[in-house]
Amino acid sequence: MHEIKDITIIGGGPTGIFASFYAGMRGATAQIVDTLPQLGGQLTALYPEKYIFDVAGFPKVLAKDLVHDLAEQAGQFKFESFLGQHVVDLVEEDGHFVLVTEADRFPTRSVLIAAGIGAFSPRRLPQQCADAWYGKGIFDNVADPEKFRGQKIVIIGGGDSAFDWCHQLRDRAAAVTLVHRSDKYRAHGATVAEVQAAVDAGKTVLLPFHELHDVLEVDGRLTGIVLRDVKTKETKTIEADAVLPMLGFISDIGPLANWGLNLEKNEIVVNSLMETGRPGIYAAGDITSYPGKLKLIATGFAEACTAVNQAFHWIYPEKKVNPGHSSNLAVFGQKDD
Ligand SMILES: Cc1cc2nc3c(=O)[nH]c(=O)nc-3n(C[C@H](O)[C@H](O)[C@H](O)COP(=O)(O)OP(=O)(O)OC[C@H]3O[C@@H](n4cnc5c(N)ncnc54)[C@H](O)[C@@H]3O)c2cc1C
Repeated sequence: MHEIKDITIIGGGPTGIFASFYAGMRGATAQIVDTLPQLGGQLTALYPEKYIFDVAGFPKVLAKDLVHDLAEQAGQFKFESFLGQHVVDLVEEDGHFVLVTEADRFPTRSVLIAAGIGAFSPRRLPQQCADAWYGKGIFDNVADPEKFRGQKIVIIGGGDSAFDWCHQLRDRAAAVTLVHRSDKYRAHGATVAEVQAAVDAGKTVLLPFHELHDVLEVDGRLTGIVLRDVKTKETKTIEADAVLPMLGFISDIGPLANWGLNLEKNEIVVNSLMETGRPGIYAAGDITSYPGKLKLIATGFAEACTAVNQAFHWIYPEKKVNPGHSSNLAVFGQKDD
């Protein structure tokens, strides 16, 4: 059992990290609990190497760099994050909430749900032969593209992640082959065109209508894979040091559905105060629904401010809802608090 905090934030995506900064700015104690092993939510898990162009103040910023800067900003205040912890339950005890994960219990005066599209995990390859190779030659998460420098890479998938990584790894890897079950690609047209140009220039191999059939090994090391043509059923072998299945993510809001909140299509309906209808529980970011809602990082930031201010005032009614301007706050060494 941890020390009780004012605000416990479910989700360490951009909304949750910014909320923890904002809580610190208000003088509230806060903590983040997230299922994933790293902070950043979708930015870290789905598109760390992509540029984002619509975050105010940044002409462009790599998703992973935005997460780094958000964490640095939040780190100005005592900021604890408990990662790899999936929130499975919410109970009320002794006049406060307790968020329960599979391994721990987090007592808290209020809850801010910034759970995005829910807890997500990469969709796995359906072929059983792949199971034993996850983490040892088959990787569904590219945390550091440098790890694949000089390697022969096979990417499996036909969506944005598959095409993006094909494009991103081409100059680092010794060879990149993109394999997809059909010739219909869900990726953005411009990225498909870029990869097609690389194929025409002989820098990338594109194999439509193929799927994984077997994994080849030498002394416990993955050395290649066998692919099967889904139309002719013929097989072919290609050398590989690493296989990257990029098959999208499965997301699930899971236990949040059972907390008596007003849900619409797996989103939490909130009012303009980011209240969920259950006193002491607020929501912000992609998980929320209201008329005109935009699922953007910028909107999540603004909603985080509202939710934290409301939660703080709810816990400490004598405290003002509106903190005033940060440029005047004593907490930042300014005069006029
Ligand atoms: C490919 C791609 C490109 C994008 N490009 C842009 C862009 O250019 N500009 C833009 O503004 N937006 C963009 N977006 C959307 C943007 O990423 C989202 O709006 C943003 O990530 C929402 O942030 P969030 O913090 O609300 O949720 P998320 O980023 O989804 O984070 C939620 C976190 O909650 C955690 N969580 C969920 N349930 C639980 C639980 N039960 N217990 C513990 N943890 C839990 C998850 O693990 C996750 O880490 C893009 C999205 C994608 C997929």
